[in-house]
Amino acid sequence: MTGLLEAQDVRVRYGSLAALDGVDLCIHDGQRHALIGPNGAGKTTLLNVLGGSTKPQRGTVRFDGRDVGRLGPAARARRGINRIHQRPAVFPTLTATENVVVAALPRVISRRGWWPGGRRRAAQHQAGPLLDQMGLTAVAAEPAGHLAHGQRRQLEIAMALAGRPRLLLLDEPAAGLSAIEVGRLVELLQALPRAVAVLLVEHRLDLVYALSDTVTVLRDGRTLAAGTPDEIRTSPLVRQAYAEGVA
Ligand code: ATP
Repeated sequence: MTGLLEAQDVRVRYGSLAALDGVDLCIHDGQRHALIGPNGAGKTTLLNVLGGSTKPQRGTVRFDGRDVGRLGPAARARRGINRIHQRPAVFPTLTATENVVVAALPRVISRRGWWPGGRRRAAQHQAGPLLDQMGLTAVAAEPAGHLAHGQRRQLEIAMALAGRPRLLLLDEPAAGLSAIEVGRLVELLQALPRAVAVLLVEHRLDLVYALSDTVTVLRDGRTLAAGTPDEIRTSPLVRQAYAEGVA
């Protein structure tokens, strides 16, 4: 079965350091795939390669059957790959609703920069349901800069969904959140529609096991193991890697 996203033999070097050394990754439609591994394993680098912000020295990235290796982040977002960053990237002076409408722009605006009224109204209409989906209806009219960190994270996910992605790349979404915010985030991510596949980089293994159906483990820029959460949880190889390089 071919995957929605297929990366093959990805290599990224920083001087003499091989951040990624021949990594393959396949993500299927609607899959919940987690990428774990000790510090410095290459997780963020791989996310950057898939999102288009880092160009590998070798390897291919195909999405929906097409080579996207030459495309940057904006072009990949238009194709359906959307990245959520460690620090929520929202427009602080715009309201939550306005942030979601702006995030839909690359999808609704024409190549010549037109924004036909019908498309604008459609973008505005979808903002409400997306904010509702992310539990933000009560703060829809608040400037994003006034929101709590957890709410900004939720807003960023609503913004990503406004682009109608087929793959969300989530880089440590729980970083900096309180225990209550993490619980809320997990519920919201579990409720994401299966039309969206997710690749999650996360240090907290409890979240990984709660959110993923497939786990790939990187170590020193290579794939150490891949399997179901149960297989990974009980893998002696993975336990050893974590014991040697604390995640
Ligand atoms: P962490 O869990 O600590 O975030 P990671 O698994 O995400 O780690 P990466 O951030 O991908 O790992 O880094 C992989 C290796 O590449 C590390 O040794 C890191 O120091 C190195 N590295 C990453 N980015 C750069 C860069 N821009 N220049 C030089 N080295 C880099």
